[in-house]
Amino acid sequence: MNRPKQLLVANVAWAHETATRDPGFFRDLERGQNPHVLWIGCSDSRVPAETITHCEPGDLFLHRNIANLFDPADDNSASVLEYAVRVLKVGHVIVCGHYGCGGVRAALLPPNPELPHVNRRIRPLCALAQAHHAELAGETVESKRVDRLAELNVLEQVRQLRAHPLVREADPAPLVHGWVFKLDDGRLKVLTSGYAADDAMTCTTTAHSAG
Ligand SMILES: [Zn+2]
Repeated sequence: MNRPKQLLVANVAWAHETATRDPGFFRDLERGQNPHVLWIGCSDSRVPAETITHCEPGDLFLHRNIANLFDPADDNSASVLEYAVRVLKVGHVIVCGHYGCGGVRAALLPPNPELPHVNRRIRPLCALAQAHHAELAGETVESKRVDRLAELNVLEQVRQLRAHPLVREADPAPLVHGWVFKLDDGRLKVLTSGYAADDAMTCTTTAHSAG
């Protein structure tokens, strides 16, 4: 059986199992969506937002791209934020990066001539790596350098989102959180949240792990 056929067969099984478990499930989906969270994550196949958070259809409004970047000048990113904030009125925006991110790693390497679109897309990430050159150069293990840049990237996207007029001018403004997914144990690490008490705790943790 070819791969698309496998997916279609699996879909039939999933739809059947879901309707058996919850007979009203698809009727509720049909009525509309009311997600409370906008999730901005990496396109990486190993970080499926719903799976790693045990979410169901209808729970997360999603935007995924290479290296979970939010570009205010890009209508693709900005329209998702606009709809999430103004129409869906989400209470939370979660930027979720991950360790071992290929997009982040690419920002630390010379541009690949085969990937002009990726090169353009990750340009802000290359600039971020430059801005943190001293810290990153101090890390001799390449994978740790990539992982630290993945954390810095999440924090930078959070900063940009918190400063964005769509977020600042919303009433109430959604809280913007920065998380990173660990491929080695499947756990999410909180880098920053909109809750002051949490951030005091996670900043300490981050400082320790970065040191
Ligand atoms: Zn990635």
